Amino acid sequence: MTLLQVRDLTVTYDGGARAVRGVDLTLAAGQKLGVAGESGCGKSTLALALLRLLPASAKVTGEVLLGGEDVLTMKWGRVRAVRWAGASIVFQGAMHSLNAVHRVGDQIAEPILLHKRATREGARRKVAELLEHVGLPAARAASYPHELSGGQRQRVMIAMALACDPELIVADEPTTALDVMIQAQILGLISRLVAEQDLGLVMISHDLAVLADTCDRLAVMYAGRVVEEGPAAQVYADALHPYGKALSGSFPTIGDPASRFAPRGLPGDPPDPAALPPGCTFHPRCPVALDVCARDDQELRPAGAGRRAACVRVGRTGAAEDVRARVRGQGREPEH
Ligand code: ADP
Ligand code: MG
Repeated sequence: MTLLQVRDLTVTYDGGARAVRGVDLTLAAGQKLGVAGESGCGKSTLALALLRLLPASAKVTGEVLLGGEDVLTMKWGRVRAVRWAGASIVFQGAMHSLNAVHRVGDQIAEPILLHKRATREGARRKVAELLEHVGLPAARAASYPHELSGGQRQRVMIAMALACDPELIVADEPTTALDVMIQAQILGLISRLVAEQDLGLVMISHDLAVLADTCDRLAVMYAGRVVEEGPAAQVYADALHPYGKALSGSFPTIGDPASRFAPRGLPGDPPDPAALPPGCTFHPRCPVALDVCARDDQELRPAGAGRRAACVRVGRTGAAEDVRARVRGQGREPEH
């Protein structure tokens, strides 16, 4: 069963930033999709659009079908209900999302009282149960956010996201603000919970390795587009798009090690979404760009079983092995 279907989603901010451009994504019930890409590629904009949380000034077109209903056109009362019971979101930096002057237990209880029409006692029991699920003692319900560590606050955010038994969790860099040990714990927790409860997950990160560990499928975003999509293990181990390769660090070494094309070695930054380059938006940074890449934009196209990529080389050959051979053979030094 299809849980989430995003069709031709486009978001343009006031001022002309084309943050999301024609994104199509499908998520089956219980499936885990990772969305990767550098900062500025439109990942958070996509996440916010899924729950209609963008500022009113943002122009949004396309469809976001959640259980078949279009989130973008439904009435606001329905949107509010769907935000808890259909899909809920976990952000990075939980400190800013929690209210500093209320006990965390009351904050978790609020949507349960509102959307589940629970009694006070029923909500209290559900809060205790949720806290236990996320690995916190029930007594923590009485704490204020500042009394908790960063990892504990993120656990509270996850408990809150689960409060109304959603079918989909959208997690936008849920561990970025945490230290490495705690990151692993929180990711493990999210993986366990979505598996146990058979939830859908859209997990956003700039770190492809983290996503490959947690997700079934991966989508790589660049300049507002999905440029590669497929089974997580394949995209991570053997990306077809040069940008996917850069993110996974699997690009072949070109020339001396200092010029190695790797995530940190990728020259420059993603383009300003208000002033996108012509042709393939990745071509100015691409070490294997052809002349045609400066002129022709590339659509996502089928690239083997369950895979899609938006690179001219994929379209020309259709064969992943040939693309890899060409990438190896025609590599040129990245321009700095
Ligand atoms: P990511 O999460 O991948 O870092 P974002 O979705 O946050 O990317 O941002 C994509 C682009 O949209 C960036 O260039 C950013 O500056 C721009 N942007 C994000 N939010 C707004 C906003 N509220 N108004 C105008 N531009 C925005
Ligand atoms: Mg972001």
